[in-house]
Amino acid sequence: KMEWLNGIVRPEILKLAAYSSARSEMGDLSGMIQMDANENPYIPYPQSIEVSKANRYPDPQPIALLARLAAIYGVKNDQILVARGMDEIIDLIIRVFCIAYKDKILITPPTYGMYQVAADTAGVEVVKVALSEEDGFEFPHAKIIATAKAEKVKIVFLCTPNNPTGNIISLDKIEAIAKSLPQAIIAVDEAYIEFADTESAASLLKDYPNLVTMKTLSKAYGFAGVRIGSLLAHPDIITVSRKVLAPYPLPEPCVRLAHQLLSPLGLQLVHSRTEILKAERERMLEVLRQLPGIEEVYPSKANFILFKVENGGKIYKDVLAKGIVIRNRAKDVANTLRISIGTPEENNLVLAALGAKLDNLA
Ligand code: PMP
Repeated sequence: KMEWLNGIVRPEILKLAAYSSARSEMGDLSGMIQMDANENPYIPYPQSIEVSKANRYPDPQPIALLARLAAIYGVKNDQILVARGMDEIIDLIIRVFCIAYKDKILITPPTYGMYQVAADTAGVEVVKVALSEEDGFEFPHAKIIATAKAEKVKIVFLCTPNNPTGNIISLDKIEAIAKSLPQAIIAVDEAYIEFADTESAASLLKDYPNLVTMKTLSKAYGFAGVRIGSLLAHPDIITVSRKVLAPYPLPEPCVRLAHQLLSPLGLQLVHSRTEILKAERERMLEVLRQLPGIEEVYPSKANFILFKVENGGKIYKDVLAKGIVIRNRAKDVANTLRISIGTPEENNLVLAALGAKLDNLA
């Protein structure tokens, strides 16, 4: 049935018999006497509603949450799985597709650090196609395609908007890459896409089964502490990935919190705050561009701004001395700092620490 995945998914994973439990086979067992999973029958202290299910294993893949997220992300219910943040999704797909000491992934530095960490951990080689500062970090899609073919890479990671540069890769280019590399998985990291006013690569899923999109509730949804990330992919890829994923990745209290967050009122708040953060990003871009001592402010479609200064190390320490932590990205891009967009008050404080005359801002 899943023949199209031969040569794409690791052969031992295709053959793998998934871990099985009453819950994975029968679904929701509430209302039944549950003597299947060696759980404790007693509800733990403090016996409040919050812990009323704490003695039971959670749903391996909570169906109602999957349906809610699928609707929000624009995919079908069998095209999604959830895990502990996108970080676990990144690790998961490398373990599903890449054979240790044989297969390779492709990344486009400067980019998110976990692709490299997860690949190194799995004994998977990392091929790099650098984004160049001179081109404004534009994604060189022809070079990505040529390199991926020459090196026979198994996964191409594309981060859009890219962390830390803030620029996006167009849907046209993503499609060209997916079309040209049918034997590779094109993994699109959309951690920051809610800030970008651009269409999700999930819309390409129906035409390109080798394309997967990774989502998180950590950024625009403000749920970093609850750890919920999603993989959007062809149903067959979801099926094999579920075999590799830990049996009960999402704690039940986190699932409950996510339902509150994704209620109509919760979503309204997410949307209005996203608009505030986007407006603040535009304001900060403008103020930073006028500050003396800042050489270049890179355009951003995310909730952070990367900019170039003469003495990044010193500015970083000066800002820190004022109680504000920003990021020194000099290791990725020479002489750069990265600031996350905060509340308007926090933004004013960091701008002042960088030398902006706040009186002139109003
Ligand atoms: N992708 C990118 C580009 C990120 O910047 C981050 C978080 N810093 C992640 C993924 C990880 O997100 P999560 O909190 O869902 O693990």
